[in-house]
Amino acid sequence: MPKSMTAEKQASRQAGFQLVASLLDALDRPLLVSDRRGQILFTNLHAQDSLQAQGLDAKPDLNLFRDVLHADRKTVLAQLEGGEQEVHLALETAEGPTRARVRWLPEPDWLAVFVEPAPAEPPADEAEMRQKVQDLIQEREITYRNLLAAYLRLQEANRQKTVFLASAAHELKTPLAVMKGYYELLLSGSLGKVSEKQREILRESKESCDRLVRLVSMFLNYSALESGKLVLQFRENDLRDCINDLAGRWKDAFQRAEVHLDINIDPSLPLFRFDYQKVQQCIVNLVDNALKHTPAGGRVMLHAGPHFWERRLAEASPLEERRRGAGHPPNSILITVTDTGTGIAAEFHQEIFEEFVRVDPSSSGMGLGLAITKRLIQAHRGKVWVDSEMGRGSSFSFLLPIYVE
Ligand code: ADP
Repeated sequence: MPKSMTAEKQASRQAGFQLVASLLDALDRPLLVSDRRGQILFTNLHAQDSLQAQGLDAKPDLNLFRDVLHADRKTVLAQLEGGEQEVHLALETAEGPTRARVRWLPEPDWLAVFVEPAPAEPPADEAEMRQKVQDLIQEREITYRNLLAAYLRLQEANRQKTVFLASAAHELKTPLAVMKGYYELLLSGSLGKVSEKQREILRESKESCDRLVRLVSMFLNYSALESGKLVLQFRENDLRDCINDLAGRWKDAFQRAEVHLDINIDPSLPLFRFDYQKVQQCIVNLVDNALKHTPAGGRVMLHAGPHFWERRLAEASPLEERRRGAGHPPNSILITVTDTGTGIAAEFHQEIFEEFVRVDPSSSGMGLGLAITKRLIQAHRGKVWVDSEMGRGSSFSFLLPIYVE
C-alpha cells in the first residue's frame, strides 16, 4: 500500500473517532468504557468532570471496579455473563446519589457504564398515604363485618317480633269471630226485637268488626310471607268460580257505598293451575281498595280474560305488550280492576307495592294489601302494575302465566 494511502486512511479513521467521541460528549450524563479488567478506555466529557470532582482523574492506575463502582469485579462480570442485561449499582458521587448501569458489549468485550441520577424513592408522604389507604381499607372491612353482624341480629329480632305479633293477632281471631256472630244474631232479631237506632249501631259495630277481621287476616298473611311460610297449592281451577264466589260478598258493600260493580269475565277463559285462595285474596285486595277509594256514584270494573304475555317484554308497557301480542295464542290470564276513584299520583306507583306504604295515612288499612298481592302474584310467576292519574281513577292489573314450570 502506498504510504500516502495509509496516512489518508489513518486520517479518516481519526476523523471517525473524533466524530463518535464528540457525539458521546454530547450525552447529558457520564459514560465510561473499560475492558473486562476494569481499565478505563474512554470517558465522555461528563464522566471526566465527574472523575475530576472526585479527584480520580489524575490516578495513574484508575480501575473502574475498584475506584469508580466500588464493586467486586468478578461478581459484576458473573451477573452479566449469566444473562443479565444490565447490572445496577448505587453510587454516592459529588452530584449526590446516582445509579450506575453496567452493560457488557460482547463484541469488543468491553463494559459500558452509564451514570444517572438514582431513581426517586417514593416521598415520605406518599408512603404515609399508602399506609393510610391500607388502614382505611382495613377499617372498612371491620366496619362492614360489624354492620353485617348487626344487620343479622336486627333481622333475627325483626323475625321474632313478627312471630310474636302474628301469634298475638292469631289470638284475636277467635274473640272477633265470636263478636261477629253475636252481632249477626242480634241483627237477625232472634234474640228479641231491635229498634231501628239499635239496628244501625249494631250494623256499624259489625262493620268495624269485619274491618278488624280483615286487618288481622291481612297481618297474618303478611307474617306468613315474612317468615317464609308461603306454600302455594297449585291445582287446576276455574277463575270464574274464584271471582263469582266473591260477588255475593261484594254486593252489600257496594250497595251501601253506592258504587256500581261491573264484573266481566271472558267466556274463553281456560281452566289453569293456580292457588285458588291466594288468587282470590289478590282480587279481594284490589277490589276492596277500589271500593275504598271510589266515592258514591262511581264505578268499579273487574275484567278477566286470556292474554298473550311475551316474557321478554316484561319490562315493556302493557299497551306495547298488547300490540306485540296480537295474533299469538294466549299464554296467561290478565285480570284488571279499574275504578273511577281518587287516583294515585305517578310518584307513588312503585312505592304502593311496598310494605306499610299508604298514600293517604288517614285512610284505614296498614299498607299491606298491595305488598301481599305483589308477593303472591310473583310467587305465581306473574306480575302486577298500576295505571293511574290523580283524580282520574286507577287501573290495577296482574298477569298469571297459564303454564307454570
Ligand atoms: P291499605 O291496606 O292501606 O289500603 P294497600 O297496600 O292496599 O294498603 O294500598 C296502599 C296504598 O295505595 C293505599 O294506602 C292507598 O293510598 C293506595 N291505593 C291502593 N289502591 C288504590 C285505589 N284503587 N285508588 C286510590 N288509591 C289506592
